[in-house]
Amino acid sequence: MTEAPNITPSFRTSGTNLKRAKTHNHRVVMEIIRTRGPIGRTEISEITSLSRQTVQNIVAELHRGGMVEMSAGKAVGRGHPGMNVRIRADHAYSLGFHVDRLSVTAVACDLMGDIVWEGSESLQQSSCENANACVLKLMGEFRQAHADIGPKLFGVGLAAPGPFEVEKTATTHTDAATFSEFGSADNLSRLEEALSLPVVLQNDASAAALGEHVYGRGRNYSSFAFVQFGIGLGAGFVLNGGLYGGAARNAGEIGHVSIAHDGPKCFCGNRGCLERYLSLYALCETLGIDPASPESVRQTEKLFDQNDPAVERWMEEVAPHMRQMINMIEMMLDPEVIFLGGIIGAGFLKALLDKALPLGLRLDGKSDRADRVLIGTAGAKAVALGATAAAVEALYAPSVSQLVL
Ligand SMILES: [Zn+2]
Repeated sequence: MTEAPNITPSFRTSGTNLKRAKTHNHRVVMEIIRTRGPIGRTEISEITSLSRQTVQNIVAELHRGGMVEMSAGKAVGRGHPGMNVRIRADHAYSLGFHVDRLSVTAVACDLMGDIVWEGSESLQQSSCENANACVLKLMGEFRQAHADIGPKLFGVGLAAPGPFEVEKTATTHTDAATFSEFGSADNLSRLEEALSLPVVLQNDASAAALGEHVYGRGRNYSSFAFVQFGIGLGAGFVLNGGLYGGAARNAGEIGHVSIAHDGPKCFCGNRGCLERYLSLYALCETLGIDPASPESVRQTEKLFDQNDPAVERWMEEVAPHMRQMINMIEMMLDPEVIFLGGIIGAGFLKALLDKALPLGLRLDGKSDRADRVLIGTAGAKAVALGATAAAVEALYAPSVSQLVL
């Protein structure tokens, strides 16, 4: 595939930090070094099909700019040992924000995804203004805590529940309107100006998928789905090595697949949506917990840890829906693996998955694969980390694996 990388306009034109990653070939080489380093220049040349001379020139330029460092490799045969190249993780940092209905979580991490700072703020009321205020406040806290790293920030990733670019109608739910407004082009440029940094947005499930792809176990797969179990239910897709976001970054709204035409009403306007059964919101409803309370996740986890029979019963009830969801994703996408993650702990997700066993058969006959469905990186931080991955992907080459691997 030779399609142009999906880089946001702000990243295309942004400033001095990116000067050294200015050409497409630079980005490809950087991404190979980042994901496979330490690596020799000959190997980079073999993987990318760029000439040795071109790779040498690019690596030399990256080295002069301080983005990579060199170390002696192992001697092979009678030749003298070549030099290996690796990314200097502390050369640049990105900041990721996960904005959800209850809170804003932020992490700052280096180029290899190691978290150097984290913070969070409660959202008293879910509105675009409040979300913006929290983002700016957290940025202020970060800059204060790490005055040395501040100048090395190259971009900000934002992750928020979709759907984005929703046309406002009388039936549009407040939440949908809030996040659609938060993700609007106007608001993103406002934030870019206030933060003085390029900003890139993904829906939360896509960000989680990207985080898994760039930093997590997803590195071992080129096509997978990441199911994000949160207040709602969403999925993100990495297909053939690249994130598939959809036309309006709304791909993977699996929570709004209607599974019962006469089921309970959903805020999207339809009835019987999957997330009316299978989501933290649905579980909270069953348990009599206010899903909008900042404590709802902790309360639910606590009940789960205490083997509460109501949680157990709910899991039994929704297990067939879980099975159906996995079947739908497998049949539609033929992924190598499905990751299950979310804002609730891994133990809860594993128990929920276990209840759904045995799963339906896969068409390729590999139904017993141990890595058919895996528990992904879970927790509120995972999406924020994924948001930093969105910024990293925008800096490097988002479709690099499609282009060269
Ligand atoms: Zn719905």
